Amino acid sequence: MVLVAAPARSRCATYDGGVTETRKRVLLAKPRGYCAGVDRAVQTVEEALKLYGAPIYVRKQIVHNKHVVSTLEARGAIFVEENEEVPEGSTVIFSAHGVAPEVYEQAKQRSLKAIDATCPLVTKVHHEARRFAAEDYDILLIGHEGHEEVIGTAGEAPAHIQLVDGPDGVDKVTVRDPNKVVWLSQTTLSVDETMETVARLKTRLPLLQSPPSDDICYATQNRQHVVKEIAPECDVVLVVGSRNSSNSVRLVEVALDGGARGGYLIDYASEIQEEWLEGATTVGVTSGASVPDDLVTEVLDHLAERGFADVTEVTTAEERLTFSLPQELKRDMKAAAARTLP
Ligand code: SF4
Repeated sequence: MVLVAAPARSRCATYDGGVTETRKRVLLAKPRGYCAGVDRAVQTVEEALKLYGAPIYVRKQIVHNKHVVSTLEARGAIFVEENEEVPEGSTVIFSAHGVAPEVYEQAKQRSLKAIDATCPLVTKVHHEARRFAAEDYDILLIGHEGHEEVIGTAGEAPAHIQLVDGPDGVDKVTVRDPNKVVWLSQTTLSVDETMETVARLKTRLPLLQSPPSDDICYATQNRQHVVKEIAPECDVVLVVGSRNSSNSVRLVEVALDGGARGGYLIDYASEIQEEWLEGATTVGVTSGASVPDDLVTEVLDHLAERGFADVTEVTTAEERLTFSLPQELKRDMKAAAARTLP
């Protein structure tokens, strides 16, 4: 773990386990905010707007963040629920959460130009689902019912996949052959709760196989890990993120499980209620994987105005992963650049 006193704010930044610290302070989690998949998805919409011009249609929220969506809307993106709402022949971008194969088919039927902004780490889970289904496995997909990512992954092999929505969903599972069962998961779950679900599944299905590599993505794991680290020191943890953001909601749960007295999810600094801070000396701050850092800066400013000016950034991992833009977009960008050459 690396501790860094955020230079602009810190006057007495120490992270000493909270034993002697009594002055008001903020522990700022790092990593926080944008992950590689969200960055790529947002950039995809921005570049498409520049290249093709507005409007650009986006099926579902490109990432689950109110602020990001309204900013892109202001620039000419139109968010729709289904392909039928997109005029024939238009460009449509599929969100970072992934889509079922039938959604590509519908787009083709409507002659839509589809650009797929699915996070490559979600695509990896789709590949696993297709591979295990081809080998005739029963696939237990651990995830939240109704979440877009789960709908997309389940759509890869509906006849082979059944959803297990947390530990309480284990008793409902039925399989054809207990020797040929594998579990996969949504990328943004609580690591601890998922392990509890798997442990319960294994008491019923001892030969249950695990995914070839972690399905819960690096960004989800890193953001939860640092919150776990700071939570025992915090009276309150503020998580910047939207209510429909699975990974952000999980961060609040991790903070509360980790010992914070209060944990709150907020889209904007203006939502912080004065009573949350009453009697608090240490406030933890983090943000979900779909949250731009300027929203966190506003939260820090809000806290500084209320005496929480000392900020220590607590770093448990460095993230350097980036993903390149979708092929179909890169191809068009290259062609456009070639046309402008003298
Ligand atoms: S949270 Fe993970 S899976 Fe989701 S977009 Fe980010 S990197 Fe990809």
